[in-house]
Amino acid sequence: MEKIDKNTQSIKFVVVGAGLSGLILAWRCLSSNPNVSVIIIDSNHIIGGDHTWSFNINDIESSLHEWIEPFIAHSWKKYDVKFKGYSRRLNIPYCTGNSNSLRACVDPFIKSGRLKLILDTEVVKLTSFDVTILNGEKFTGDYIFDARGFTFDDNIKLGIQKFYGKTIETAKPHNLKYPIIMDATVSQHDGYRFIYCLPFGKNQILIEDTYYSDGLNFDQDKYNKRIDQYIEGNNWTEHKVIRVEKGILPITLAIDSKLIEKRGLKNKEPIKIGMRGNFYHPVTGYSFPDSVRLASKISRTINSCDKNKLVNLDLEIRKYKLLLYRRDRYFRLLNRLLFKASSPSKRHLVLQRFYTLSESLIKRFYEGNLHKKDMLRILIGKPPVPVLRALYFFSERAFVAREKKRVKND
Ligand SMILES: Cc1cc2nc3c(=O)[nH]c(=O)nc-3n(C[C@H](O)[C@H](O)[C@H](O)COP(=O)(O)OP(=O)(O)OC[C@H]3O[C@@H](n4cnc5c(N)ncnc54)[C@H](O)[C@@H]3O)c2cc1C
Repeated sequence: MEKIDKNTQSIKFVVVGAGLSGLILAWRCLSSNPNVSVIIIDSNHIIGGDHTWSFNINDIESSLHEWIEPFIAHSWKKYDVKFKGYSRRLNIPYCTGNSNSLRACVDPFIKSGRLKLILDTEVVKLTSFDVTILNGEKFTGDYIFDARGFTFDDNIKLGIQKFYGKTIETAKPHNLKYPIIMDATVSQHDGYRFIYCLPFGKNQILIEDTYYSDGLNFDQDKYNKRIDQYIEGNNWTEHKVIRVEKGILPITLAIDSKLIEKRGLKNKEPIKIGMRGNFYHPVTGYSFPDSVRLASKISRTINSCDKNKLVNLDLEIRKYKLLLYRRDRYFRLLNRLLFKASSPSKRHLVLQRFYTLSESLIKRFYEGNLHKKDMLRILIGKPPVPVLRALYFFSERAFVAREKKRVKND
């Protein structure tokens, strides 16, 4: 391991991808590790893109709440869920940050020169020790991070969450006080469908048409019309559209366990973070809390390492990933029950039942911090999926083996 003097020599990160995870990592490490300097390379002409990222504040450890504050552009004390059978208001604080607030968080470090940006630059090759851009130029650093966003992996079996949303400015106040995280009273199509609403101000609201679906087909016109119907139903017809966002998110059904142990420096790979490293909530596909947790872990690991040595960060992250792989087993089981054991038209019943459970259990679910008794509580009772089908999808290993066989035979 290379010798360094942490008192005089800086630790250099090269991060590929100035999206959510790359910038959160840079922001966290630059804030708490005085010796760290960061180069970020992105193919886009601006950092942070054009996004909104929402999260429950409880999903972030309390010692980081003060630090995360400048990122939060909007926050609400409660949110609603609505189903045909009932609706409910949950006392779970909900927050949203966006590309502008994220840019503002890293801006002081750009100004001080500790964060260097290389934009409009396509990276074509990454290893654990260097990064090559399109014109052949190479960048080296003490740690190389791959934060290029989501990509499919044959060893991870997925369901798909897809959505299309618009932010509108209404002529009259929309009168929505709290977010509606799921409005599943809408007609059901293509699996489980719901509308997600975030009121940003008296006259501004983000409305997203969302599907827990089996396929990747994306019919933007249809989703747009369905949002317009929702807008009409709520008397927000007089409005102008100020922003559109769309995307797909992975919902993990199963992971081939061999994948977890195999990867790493042996293959001369960089350290994968964010969606690229599969650091996201298995049921929602959201990655903000995971990006913060990972950045905080990396920052702590770097700070606590032996003064004169670079820490083997890749090994530390692989250990952490194995821990998450084990922790998330139960979530992947729930996803298989939702996507495989229940018929697409009945998926909404699974979610409807989930939201009748206690508020503290729901909080722990999104934190990824379920107790054993929570796991039992979610599964027992009148099952909205047929028991025999549920049993068929119980074993992750058997599911992976069946899927591999199916792909081979296709
Ligand atoms: C529309 C949408 C809404 C979402 N909403 C939420 C939410 O509310 N809450 C939440 O927690 N999660 C949300 N997510 C999920 C996830 O948090 C986001 O996708 C998040 O932006 C992922 O962060 P990331 O850093 O992994 O990738 P990204 O933010 O996508 O960043 C990847 C970066 O890598 C760059 N890049 C890619 N390839 C190259 C290359 N070859 N060379 C150089 N640069 C490259 C890209 O230009 C980009 O800037 C949402 C996702 C989508 C698509």
